[in-house]
Amino acid sequence: MNDEQLLRYSRHILLAEFGVEGQRRLGDAHALLIGAGGLGCPAALYLASSGIGRMTIADPDKVDLTNLQRQVLYRTDSVGRPKVDAARATLAAINPEVELITLQQRVAAEDLRTLVAAADVVLDCSDNFATRHAVNRACVEHAKPLVSGAAIRFDAQLMVFDLRKREAPCYSCLFPEEGEVEEVQCSVMGVLAPMTGAIGALQAMEAIKIVAGIGDTSGRLLLFDAKSSEWRSVRVAKDPQCAVCSSR
Ligand SMILES: [Zn+2]
Repeated sequence: MNDEQLLRYSRHILLAEFGVEGQRRLGDAHALLIGAGGLGCPAALYLASSGIGRMTIADPDKVDLTNLQRQVLYRTDSVGRPKVDAARATLAAINPEVELITLQQRVAAEDLRTLVAAADVVLDCSDNFATRHAVNRACVEHAKPLVSGAAIRFDAQLMVFDLRKREAPCYSCLFPEEGEVEEVQCSVMGVLAPMTGAIGALQAMEAIKIVAGIGDTSGRLLLFDAKSSEWRSVRVAKDPQCAVCSSR
């Protein structure tokens, strides 16, 4: 690490559990972000400022005026631009050392296999169950840690699926693919802006902890109620009947 890097990351390096070694691990790591919306924006901001080495961001959309209330990578003059292009400009200004790979596409199962295989940690910042399940399947297949976040109205959730461990539950253990979970159209629902910021930042935090080798939050579903500002923590066990991970 050069002098400038030692200064830029000094507040991490001062943490005994982090140190130069943790920062180096972060700098060697590759994070995959699926979705650059309300969760993906703050997650990408903190991963970039923290010094992640490489980040792949996939999102098919263009910036819309309705995004600006919470999608903090974008500016008023970003409206109409592809999200990944506007994201790249903001992130590069914050930390030009981060290698950014941007994909303006909705990633299908086949793409995800390749993308997940190349990543050290995956952040699911998407807004639909089809993508969430496809991301989960790829993470199970390649035994990659998955940091999942969701936020709608005044409710949010966060969970780390550390699929490097065989005994870890996967997303489908919690929400089975064939389950009766009602798909909520995030694109037309209200959501409290700072809550998406909080959850996205926590996703970045968990991803950083994973690659730096600090602490462990896996196997617990964290549920946040913004109205009462209360957190609940629920242990989630691996489902031995899970259609996705039980056979691995
Ligand atoms: Zn499972």
